[in-house]
Amino acid sequence: MLENSYHDQLPSSFYSEQAPVPVAAPEMFVYNHQLAADLDLPADWQDAKKAMAWLSGNMAVADSQPIAQAYAGHQFGHFTMLGDGRAILLGEIVKEDQRYDMQLKGSGRTLFSRKGDGRATLYSMLREYLISEAMHHLGIPTTRSLAVVKSGEKVQREYQHEGAILTRIAKSHLRVGTFEFARVYRSDEELKQLLDYSIQRHDPSLVGQEDVAMKFFQSVIDRQIDLVVHWMRVGFIHGVMNTDNTSIAGESIDYGPCAFMNAYHPDTVFSSIDRQGRYAYSNQPRIVHWNLAVLANALLPLLDQDEKKAIERVEAVLNEFPEMYRARYFSMMLNKLGIAQQKPDDAVLVQELMQLLAEHRIDYTNFFVSLRHDSITEKALLEDERFISWKQRWKEAHERDVPKGLQLMDENNPVVIPRNHLVEQALEEAVDGKMKPFNDLLEKLSQPYAQDQSLQEVPEGFDRLYQTYCGT
Ligand code: AMP
Ligand code: MG
Ligand code: MG
Repeated sequence: MLENSYHDQLPSSFYSEQAPVPVAAPEMFVYNHQLAADLDLPADWQDAKKAMAWLSGNMAVADSQPIAQAYAGHQFGHFTMLGDGRAILLGEIVKEDQRYDMQLKGSGRTLFSRKGDGRATLYSMLREYLISEAMHHLGIPTTRSLAVVKSGEKVQREYQHEGAILTRIAKSHLRVGTFEFARVYRSDEELKQLLDYSIQRHDPSLVGQEDVAMKFFQSVIDRQIDLVVHWMRVGFIHGVMNTDNTSIAGESIDYGPCAFMNAYHPDTVFSSIDRQGRYAYSNQPRIVHWNLAVLANALLPLLDQDEKKAIERVEAVLNEFPEMYRARYFSMMLNKLGIAQQKPDDAVLVQELMQLLAEHRIDYTNFFVSLRHDSITEKALLEDERFISWKQRWKEAHERDVPKGLQLMDENNPVVIPRNHLVEQALEEAVDGKMKPFNDLLEKLSQPYAQDQSLQEVPEGFDRLYQTYCGT
């Protein structure tokens, strides 16, 4: 059922052959039947019980050449060698010209595990499942989750946890860090092989063209801007935007310490290890820019034999990033505001509003839905002279085309998002084996734009103490 193009087409330095380490007592916890069907998996795979043997790592999958991928990366700004320390790529599913990686996460030690145990907790694999599926339904490019299998083994972190294995489906697991690995540790020839492989997989229209390295770089930029604009749209804070977590395919990947913002504030950060706010909500576009500069650096030998010229070329492109991002960000925000015929001066409306939302600590998601239904209730905001003036000017802009404006609002403003308190409640019950709140929440998150739902209330003060964690 699987193909292994990464293994077959790239030099062996890009991976280590490694089977998943079997687990003691596998138990299928969640299975994504819809995704299995959408991927056209064979009949046996539509049966969660049968799939469990494969997705626990206890039984080899037909045609699979399991590997751990090599990659490096900048973590919080510092370069380091990494690689799949707790993941195994089983192979690729091919459906209508689109190739999808099937990867087990939490599947045991590999050559790249360093001091880690190669395992993952049931809590964090269920969290990734829930949030990645929510992102998908929000219309955001993301890795998907096919299954969570409880391992029946304990995992030691600060406390003892139940262990589990997540099956992750991704357009690929090629990262900025894969290019850094090739550039720093391998030859220019192997770097070129990686480029060719990536282009085949993600930019097949570029095959055979001139100056492919530059065109590839631009298309990665394009996908990354698209992605971060989506994150800004729904108030998603990734939390660990290291270059090893920056996908060449432009998917959101690695749901460790991510969380959604409730009350709007640009400095919002939840990750316990992000003390400087490097990956805070409003810093995300700058970090994408930074990560792309790292990719540019890795691509230099393929851009021009003269390094100086190569640097000049990438700098010219990178210098356009802020304006490219800005244009797409404001267009997206004006869509949220239901302004169909956008004029350059409208950006001021967005800036003024964000200032007001931050000052009044207004719920980001609920604000746009309330504006759409003219049902804003926050008294202090409604009485603020600046907001009264803003709303008048917004109304004039919105009335340039009301039907189209309302449609844009409905398409761009989710009513329900994975609220932190709901995620935590659902996960607490789920690790105890009580799946109803988890399944109910998953169901709710599958229709985020349905306008006939009530707004989600957030418990007072919840976010102030809310912290998220990496590597659990
Ligand atoms: P992440 O923070 O999830 O992006 O992971 C960063 C690096 O740490 C990757 O190379 C992971 O494979 C590795 N890693 C994280 N957790 C573990 C673990 N429990 N055992 C081995 N390696 C791990
Ligand atoms: Mg990672
Ligand atoms: Mg991770």
